[in-house]
Amino acid sequence: MKLCVFDQMEMGVNKCEANSAVSDVSIRGILGMLKRLCDSDDRRAVIQLGHGDPSVFPCFRTSQIAEDAIVDAIRSGKFNSYAPSFGLPPARRAVGEFLSRDLPYNMSSDDIFLTVGCIQAIEIVVSALARPRANILLPRPGFPLYESHAALNGIEIRRFDLLPNKSWEVDLESVESLADENTVALVIINPGNPCGTVFSYQHLLKIAETAKKLGICVVSDEVYGHITFRSKPFVPMGVFGSIVPVVTLGSLSKRWIVPGWRIGWIAMNDCDGVLKQTKFVDKIKGLLSVSSDPPTFVQAAIPKILAKTSKDFFNMIASILRQCSDICFNQLRQIKCLSCPNKPDGSMFMMVQLHVSKLEDIIDDSDFCIKLAKEESVIVLPGFVLGLKGWLRITFAVDPSSLEEGMQRIKAFCNRHAKLH
Ligand SMILES: *Cc1c(COP(=O)(O)O)cnc(C)c1O
Repeated sequence: MKLCVFDQMEMGVNKCEANSAVSDVSIRGILGMLKRLCDSDDRRAVIQLGHGDPSVFPCFRTSQIAEDAIVDAIRSGKFNSYAPSFGLPPARRAVGEFLSRDLPYNMSSDDIFLTVGCIQAIEIVVSALARPRANILLPRPGFPLYESHAALNGIEIRRFDLLPNKSWEVDLESVESLADENTVALVIINPGNPCGTVFSYQHLLKIAETAKKLGICVVSDEVYGHITFRSKPFVPMGVFGSIVPVVTLGSLSKRWIVPGWRIGWIAMNDCDGVLKQTKFVDKIKGLLSVSSDPPTFVQAAIPKILAKTSKDFFNMIASILRQCSDICFNQLRQIKCLSCPNKPDGSMFMMVQLHVSKLEDIIDDSDFCIKLAKEESVIVLPGFVLGLKGWLRITFAVDPSSLEEGMQRIKAFCNRHAKLH
């Protein structure tokens, strides 16, 4: 059978690479397509190891403090109006204080802009970077939303590699060779989606020094900030805000497991005021003035949520994620056609290499995901969506028993399709 949907999608990606046209490949689109391919006669439940929203599982329910803060804000009757364009002042102050806990300097509320989740933060920041002939450096594998918004704004995309045999660190040599006088920014995602990496202080320092040398700013997507569950600590890029201007993006969505609450932020870690002088901050303000704001009552709940969520809640989530990533990693070791070069230290994902030479009738990552959905009702994301063909992204933020079951089905699938020697 022909690969139909994905064929067209992949052609879309290539076309996009060629002329920077708008990319129509989205994670949601592909996962939706795979879901529809699952066999409705299969009595087993569909197991979704494709997207990063564990909020459906009872073990990943958000903290009661966060729920109470929202309820209190609604019941007060004070937050039914529009919010100011950049966010309610107490909420901006609270985010500034929250981020400052991990920085060698203090951020003020003027450095913080509230957004409709991290997704709007990406949209606004990428739009604000646009100018004639601009190009942007994006990681491969990466997060497709950056490409979509760069394409929408006519920004040329240049991809640097994350290196699987160096714990998915940034290939800084390729960053240097890709950049030129029209490069506007370098984007990193830390802790990493899709690789589950947590960059070390030393590596982040090298990234900062490279960006400084190239005269570009760093956009640091820290939507998984503090979601680490082994020995590597999370270091925010803003720590190096005196070396290079850093635009930090974050949200409540992942750490508090409330992606439906739609609240995030853009933070300017700009010790030397470069982003102000270059009018980047003014552009951000202009764009926010003409776009939608996060719900006012959610903004109102922010100070309590950030100040009061208990360590126990975060520890509990970290311990489930550690357990889940162990399940996934250990099961993968028993599957010959798949390998995972790095055990994840953070976020909710890992990248797994697919060895099609060990399989009888599977040609690539898309083919693998389509047949897996049809035969086993398990959904994983093909790597081509993230710019890395021949790989798969597995989400392990799933309740442990479903994850076990999902990995068993993947193993059965791989055994069934294995080449017989
Ligand atoms: C989930 C995710 C986002 C979007 O976050 P929201 O707060 O839900 O809008 C942004 N960047 C990355 C890397 C993500 O994984």
